[in-house]
Amino acid sequence: MAVWHPCTQMKVHETLPLLPIASGEGVWLTDFEGNRYLDGVSSWWVNLFGHNEPRIKTAINEQLSKLEHVMLAGFTHEPVVQLSEKLGELTQLGHCFYASDGASATEIALKMSFHYWRNIGQPEKNQFLSLKNSYHGETIGALSVTDVAIFKDTYAPLLRQSVQMPSPDFRFAETGDDRSAETFALGCANFLETYLKENHSKIAAFIIEPLIQCAAGMGMYDPMYLKRAREICSQYQVHLIADEIAVGFGRTGTMFACEQANIKPDFICLSKGITGGYLPLSVTLTTDEVYEAFYDDSVSRGFLHSHSYTGNPLACSAALATLAIFEKDDVLRKNRTKTEYINQQLSTWDSLPIEHLRNKGMVWAFDVKTKNKEFQQNFYQQGLAQGLLLRPIGNTVYWMPPYVISQDEIDFMLNTTKQLLAVCA
Ligand SMILES: *Cc1c(COP(=O)(O)O)cnc(C)c1O
Repeated sequence: MAVWHPCTQMKVHETLPLLPIASGEGVWLTDFEGNRYLDGVSSWWVNLFGHNEPRIKTAINEQLSKLEHVMLAGFTHEPVVQLSEKLGELTQLGHCFYASDGASATEIALKMSFHYWRNIGQPEKNQFLSLKNSYHGETIGALSVTDVAIFKDTYAPLLRQSVQMPSPDFRFAETGDDRSAETFALGCANFLETYLKENHSKIAAFIIEPLIQCAAGMGMYDPMYLKRAREICSQYQVHLIADEIAVGFGRTGTMFACEQANIKPDFICLSKGITGGYLPLSVTLTTDEVYEAFYDDSVSRGFLHSHSYTGNPLACSAALATLAIFEKDDVLRKNRTKTEYINQQLSTWDSLPIEHLRNKGMVWAFDVKTKNKEFQQNFYQQGLAQGLLLRPIGNTVYWMPPYVISQDEIDFMLNTTKQLLAVCA
C-alpha cells in the first residue's frame, strides 16, 4: 500500500477496509457511494466550524491569489503579523513562534524553556515534568514528556527521561461531587509542590494539558489544579507550559482553557483548531521576559530553531478567518446553548452501562462498563455503519463535534450512540 497510515497497524486493513472520503459539508463527511458520516470527533479534534466553511475557504483563496508562501527568516507578511497580534491580545503572551504541527510546538516550548534558563545562567535546569497519562505529541522530544504507554514504550531507549506527576483526572478520585473534584486537585498539586521543593534547581518546565487530558480518554479535572500549579511553578522558578493544542479555541467553553483558572502560563502551545481544521499550523507563544532573554548581540543566544513552512501565509489566513468567525458569530455564547441542550438530553440517560459521564464545554465523555474485548473496534465500525464517526479511546466514548452541529444532528449523534451501546457494550 502506497500510503502508510498514522496510528494504525496496517495489517488490520486486510479485513477492515479504509474509508475513502469524497467530500465534506458541515458536520458531514460523504464517501464515494454517497454514504454520510457525522464527524463526531471533528476529524481528530481540528475542525471547528464544519467542512466546506465558506468564509475560511474565501480567506485562503484570497491569500492564494496574493502570496502562497515566503520564508519567515528575514521576510514577513501581512497574515503572520495580524495573526500574531491577535493571538497576543487573546492570550496576553506577545511573542509567537510558528511551526506546522502540534508536536513541533511542544518541541519549541521545551527547547525555548531550556535555552531561556541557559541564557540567564542556569543551564542545569534541563529537565521536564509532565502529568501521568499526558499527551504532548510523538516526535522524540514531545514523546519524552508524553505518558501513553502504547505510543511511548517502544521508543523508550530513544527518549529523555522526564518525571510524571500524579494526574488530577477526576476519575482517579474516590468520590464524585464537585467539591471533592477541587479537593482532589489540591491533593494532586501537593505532590507537585513536594517534588519541586526538592528538585526545582534542575527542572526547566512543567508541561500540562489544561483541564482535559484528551488522549488519555478525555480525563477532566478541576481548574484549581492549574491555579495551584501556576503558584507552585512561580514559587520555584519553573516554567509552566500550557499545551492547549487540543483544548484551545473554545473547546472547554472559554477561548483558552487556562482562562478558567485565571492563570497566565509562560508558554502556550496551539494548533489543531487554530485554522478551523483547514491547514497545518502551530504556534508557541511566550512572555516578554522569555523573549528578552534571547534578545542580544550574540547569535547563539538567539532561538535558531526553524521549520521550512514556518508562518505559512495560507495557514495564517485560515487562522485569521477562524478567529473572525469567533467574533462575528458569537461562538462561545452559542456553544453554551448547545452544551446546555446536550446536558439536558443526557440527564435522561439512565440504566446504561456507563460511568464517569463528564463534560467541559464542547467535549463529552463516558467510560463504558463492558467485558467485550473488541468494544473499541466494534463501536467504531458499527458507528460508521450507522452514519456516525466516533473513535473510542479504549472503553471511553467521547463526542467532540464541530461547533456548527445543529439540534437535529445532536439528536442523531446521541440517539445513535445510545443504540450502539446497546449493541456493543
Ligand atoms: C494532538 C496533540 C498534540 C500533537 O499535535 P500533532 O499536530 O498531532 O503533532 C500535542 N498535544 C496535545 C494536547 C494534542 O492533543
